[in-house]
Amino acid sequence: TQASPFLHCGSNSESDSLAILHLKRDLLIPTVLRSHDDLNEGYSEGKVSNTRFGSFPHSTLIGVPWGSQVRASAVDTGSRGRKGWEGKGKKRKRDEDRQAQDDVAVEEKLKPEIEPKAAVDAATGFVHLLPPTPEIWTASLPHRTQVVYTPDYSYILHRLRARPGTVLIEAGAGSGSFTHAAARAVYNGYPNVNTGDSSTGGSLAKRWGKVWSFEFHEQRAQKLQEEIKQHGLDGIVEVTHRDACKDGFTPNETPASDLEANAVFLDLPAPWLALKNLARASTSSPLSRTTAIHLCTFSPCIEQVQRTITALRVLGWTEIDMVEIAAHRIEVRRERVGLAEEGLRGVNDSPASVDEAVGRLREVEGRSRIFHNEGSEGEEQAAAPGPAQVSKQQRLESIRNALEGRKLFKEGRLIHKAEQELKTHTSYLVFAVLPREWSEEDEKLAQEKWPAKV
Ligand code: SAM
Repeated sequence: TQASPFLHCGSNSESDSLAILHLKRDLLIPTVLRSHDDLNEGYSEGKVSNTRFGSFPHSTLIGVPWGSQVRASAVDTGSRGRKGWEGKGKKRKRDEDRQAQDDVAVEEKLKPEIEPKAAVDAATGFVHLLPPTPEIWTASLPHRTQVVYTPDYSYILHRLRARPGTVLIEAGAGSGSFTHAAARAVYNGYPNVNTGDSSTGGSLAKRWGKVWSFEFHEQRAQKLQEEIKQHGLDGIVEVTHRDACKDGFTPNETPASDLEANAVFLDLPAPWLALKNLARASTSSPLSRTTAIHLCTFSPCIEQVQRTITALRVLGWTEIDMVEIAAHRIEVRRERVGLAEEGLRGVNDSPASVDEAVGRLREVEGRSRIFHNEGSEGEEQAAAPGPAQVSKQQRLESIRNALEGRKLFKEGRLIHKAEQELKTHTSYLVFAVLPREWSEEDEKLAQEKWPAKV
């Protein structure tokens, strides 16, 4: 079996493994790479991802180093997606390849966005091939619910003290955005992580880390179970279809008392109703008795926060506080003042090479000429060079000489630009700690070690 690409992605992409096609900053498409595709029977190019930037046969995406730029295929063999998209293929097997269909659905969603400009780009389009990480998955996953985003979950996992070996309870699982980040945080080199062996409750889970995930919406729970398995995380994450408020935190086949969780994350509409199932007093409590428990609830409204805090106080939780994350994206880049000062607008945003810089300049000037009805580039080339053109040629040459040998990526003034608008409110995070249980045995040991002074 393959290792989970979320935990060990290796250096190159592999067949039958999840990869992310990065089209541009906010456009990422997850896809399972397939060297063979039933929808594309008889074609050696494997599955094909059709995007607004062109078609990408998976034969060009498999076995290449992560991070590679891959160009769209220039040749259409006639196989591209038609059978799949029109749903007429004889061999279409919904149940066997749900993920492949998800990909098609995402791509379908993008189709109406194809504008003439994008269609032109498609001829020369490219993607960057990225390995999946929880962050990239969050940015690209199919949304079935609102999700927890990276700025929130990175802080939450830090406050929950999630680390290799942590046993974390999560409800509701929703689209699994938080679940993937939590799985990576608690993973501790699980020996049987990819064998699909879910008999990992109790002491094994304590040593190796575990996410016990609960979701009361049946289809969502089922879909997440499938994704977790497909992503090779089924040894770390166990998703249970259950109402955590009504029925508590008992997973499919493990008694709740075997969980011995030490971290809890509740992303539910009424977290206060689930808190009673997290009391230590009950013999079926899923909480560890030997460690402190760190808890976070995630609620959009302050009224939910008030009710949660009241319940936490009643149930003996301590160190209660509330945080709101206001993530602010800051763009840092170099401004190529030198070129801009020379009036060469359009070439000042970090060209990758001298040729690219000169090429871009030519393009800008060409466009400007066409705009001002000064004839096409072809006409210009055909005509004998006049004095103005000669001087332009010389100018280009002198720029080329000036740029030659310089490390362009290091040039220009380093500037940063803050995002104009703050991202709107996501949720209030309530944190609390349940101290470790203090038994008679503990008291006796403490008395022996630190006898009371009389
Ligand atoms: N944290 C998730 C993520 O990052 O993708 C999103 C969670 S979504 C906002 C809330 C989920 O809680 C929904 O999927 C809903 O079905 C589930 N839910 C609501 N009440 C529940 C309950 N009592 N027990 C289990 N799940 C519940």
